[in-house]
Amino acid sequence: MGRSTQIQIPTLLRIKANTLHKLGKYLRRNDFHRVAVFYGEGMRELLGEKVDISLDSSEIRVVRTEVVTGNDIEAVVTSAFALPRQADALVAVGGGMAIDYAKYAGFLAGKPVIAVPTALSNDGFASPGASLKVDGRRTSCPAAIPFGVVIDTAVIAGSPPRFTYSGIGDLLTKYSAVADWKLSYWETGEQVDDFAVLIALQSVDNLVHHPHKSIDDLDFIKLMAGALVMSGVSMEVSGSSRPASGSEHLISHAYDKVAARPSMHGLQVGVASIGTMWLQEHPQLEMVMAVMAETGFLHFVKEHPLDRAAFLEAIRVAPSIKEGYFTILSDKANVERLVEFVQTSPVWDGLLA
Ligand SMILES: [Zn+2]
Repeated sequence: MGRSTQIQIPTLLRIKANTLHKLGKYLRRNDFHRVAVFYGEGMRELLGEKVDISLDSSEIRVVRTEVVTGNDIEAVVTSAFALPRQADALVAVGGGMAIDYAKYAGFLAGKPVIAVPTALSNDGFASPGASLKVDGRRTSCPAAIPFGVVIDTAVIAGSPPRFTYSGIGDLLTKYSAVADWKLSYWETGEQVDDFAVLIALQSVDNLVHHPHKSIDDLDFIKLMAGALVMSGVSMEVSGSSRPASGSEHLISHAYDKVAARPSMHGLQVGVASIGTMWLQEHPQLEMVMAVMAETGFLHFVKEHPLDRAAFLEAIRVAPSIKEGYFTILSDKANVERLVEFVQTSPVWDGLLA
């Protein structure tokens, strides 16, 4: 896949504490006067008043309010066609589901979307796609990168820790993903987009070199939020998910299918990347493990371990998840080596149960 000719990046981008108070101002500055607001479950109760006050004070009219409780594609299509014509933009306040919902509705209606993530559980809020349910299955649908991304780091600091840990896990997989992409270049000739690699890796580097890696440190959250946005942009730039998704993501997608109770995306891919980086003999593995320990990621996963049998099964299923997507697991011998590593190394103690 080549670089897309029209690259979209967020026009409006604000990441800092208490940005929610200024949401109305940002919208007005970008000439939006009538908006449809989509809330994730519980978010209207939690943040609705703040949003209303902010929009009100900038004289922005809410022409429709919807609480997103599911992500079936039919519901999104119905909602998109029910959007009042005078709506200039869609504002999504919530987690991944509400944002994906609004992203796809905005895409269908041809209206800009402003994402206001209330948790940083994965890089989906700034990616060009939308994860929706099609015929009951989680499916990646084409959409556009949001016009705006407004992240209130104080809101994120107050979100349940599992979300932030998941976001950390998703970010740390860039090393594994990029290594798989380069491997694919050597094995299949697939073009690597160096600029996308630079964006993806450099933003994670900022994060892992931050002196105080704690999930309630506002500066750390700010770096995380920025890195997740850049991860989305790197996918847009390269026109593929390659810079953000490699064999560790395939294992996670397989785990979603085989596990009785899948965990969070970022936790799964983070744990899986320990194995894929080991296979890749990745020079950053030790550093990634250290960051996982320092942030509390490993401790959190040990309190909520993945299912060992399902994880082993997922490693075997992973190579068949995405046709033609070459990774370190495309070599059958590597699948067996990883299975053996998981069965014998103490690295996995507590992470799998
Ligand atoms: Zn991911």
